[in-house]
Amino acid sequence: QIEAENLSLWYGEKQVLKNISIKIPRNSVTALIGPSGSGKSTFIRCLNRMNDLIKNCRVEGKVLIEGKDIYAPDVDVVELRKKVGMVFQKPNPFPMSIYDNVAYGPRIHGVNKKDLDSIVEQALRSAAIWEETSDRLKSSALSLSGGQQQRLCIARTLAVKPRIILFDEPTSALDPISTARIEDLITNLKKDYTIVIVTHNMQQAARISDYTGFFLSGELIEFDQTRQIFHNPQEKSTEDYITGRF
Ligand code: ATP
Ligand code: MG
Repeated sequence: QIEAENLSLWYGEKQVLKNISIKIPRNSVTALIGPSGSGKSTFIRCLNRMNDLIKNCRVEGKVLIEGKDIYAPDVDVVELRKKVGMVFQKPNPFPMSIYDNVAYGPRIHGVNKKDLDSIVEQALRSAAIWEETSDRLKSSALSLSGGQQQRLCIARTLAVKPRIILFDEPTSALDPISTARIEDLITNLKKDYTIVIVTHNMQQAARISDYTGFFLSGELIEFDQTRQIFHNPQEKSTEDYITGRF
């Protein structure tokens, strides 16, 4: 359902992605691993055209989402970003109430006022944070703990009903318990969404992903089932990276 064909990307003169080709099946979790600066965040930003916001950025090749080329001239980028949501490393709730954070996207997309309450509740439930917030929906989102804020950000993404969710190191700012909760959540979301997660945590990649891709210097060196990558990598650089010899 997510496909890249010979995707290359430059920031000015500097080539940061080199001929990436990948096919990510729907309703799966794909982990992207690799050293700092290898292009993982840049790659996932190409999947909902977040890279459009970066000056000097030039893309060649194709990205197909549900079979459609998202870099074609007639693509509605707002609709695309609704379909392909993103969650970042640092929880970034808006400085407004818990309710308004989750209602924000649906409101922009013209959802009826009377439907909002149930959409907000459903999103908070799906992000496993309803129990902790149902009695304080009018409180500021900034009053939540970091782990709760991250689940709220996931709820905010779910509220616009995406098909795909991109996570860029969603747990690296969190403690182990909050991390475990997000990992459980991602595993549960898999039945309804296609998920791509960038992580530096090898145990996390091994625990929650079905497929793993290894990036090195802007190239996708290897992409395969996670157990294959971790137990029988085909490339020496993949093996060196996952065994910590890098
Ligand atoms: P990390 O694990 O540290 O997050 P990453 O694999 O996500 O790393 P990217 O953030 O995709 O790496 O960066 C890939 C390369 O592109 C790096 O060399 C980075 O310095 C460069 N880069 C990223 N954003 C820009 C930009 N806006 N302009 C110029 N170069 C950039
Ligand atoms: Mg990154």
